[in-house]
Amino acid sequence: MNLILMGPPGAGKGTQSQLLSERFKIPQVSTGDILRTNVREKTRIGQKARAYMDRGALVPDDLVVEMVSERLGDADCSRGFILDGFPRNARQAEELERTLLRGGKAIDAVIGIEVERRELVRRLAGRRVCRKCAAAYNIIFNPPVNMDTCNKCGGELYQRDDDREETIEARLRVYEEETLPVTEYYRGKGLYGGINGIGIIDRITESIIEAIEERRGNIKVAD
Ligand code: AMP
Repeated sequence: MNLILMGPPGAGKGTQSQLLSERFKIPQVSTGDILRTNVREKTRIGQKARAYMDRGALVPDDLVVEMVSERLGDADCSRGFILDGFPRNARQAEELERTLLRGGKAIDAVIGIEVERRELVRRLAGRRVCRKCAAAYNIIFNPPVNMDTCNKCGGELYQRDDDREETIEARLRVYEEETLPVTEYYRGKGLYGGINGIGIIDRITESIIEAIEERRGNIKVAD
C-alpha cells in the first residue's frame, strides 16, 4: 500500500505515520526526519537544508526530490510506504508521480489530517521530540512519563528549533500557500480523503484506516 499523509505542521502526521507503519508493516518516509538527521550529521544535504528549515521555509525541491526517490528505491519500500511531509508543493507532486511511474507504482490513497490553525499553534509550541527515535510528545496533551525522556526508547526529548513561535507562523503560511493546493490536486484524482485530526490518537488512526478503505476498497495487510 502506497500512502501519503498530508496536513499542516502539527496535525499529527508523524504520530499517525508511525502508528500506521507498525500496523501495516510498511516504512514511514518522513522528509522532515530525514532532513533533520542530515542536519545533525552535517552531510552535504544537511548543510544546504539547515537555513531553510530554521526559518520555516521549504528546502529546495531538487534536494528533497532526490532524497525521496532514493529512499523509495530501498528494498523495504517495495511492499509499500507511508509518505509523511512529502509532497509539499505542486512540483514535488509531479516529480513523485514520475518517480513512481518509472518503478511501475502508484499512490493508493492520500489522507489529509485536518486541524484548525489555533489548535496547531498550541500543539507545535508544546511539542517535544525524541532525539533517538523521533517519537513526538506534547507537554500538555500527550506528556511523556518523565519530562525529558522518551517513553519508548529512553532517548532525550527536545524542542525543535522550528517549533518556536516566530517560525510556526512562517510554516503555517507555507502550508496554506504551497501545500494546500496539492490536496486539491489529489482530491481531483479521487485519491484524497480528509479526516478530523482532533481527538484521541487511536480514534484518529481508525478514521484514517476507514478513509483508506473507502479509497482502496480493501487493504492488504502485510503478514
Ligand atoms: P516537518 O518535520 O515535516 O515539519 O519538516 C520540517 C522542515 O523540513 C520543513 O519546515 C521544511 O523546512 C523541511 N521539509 C520537510 N519536508 C519537506 C519537503 N517535502 N519539501 C521541502 N522542505 C521540506
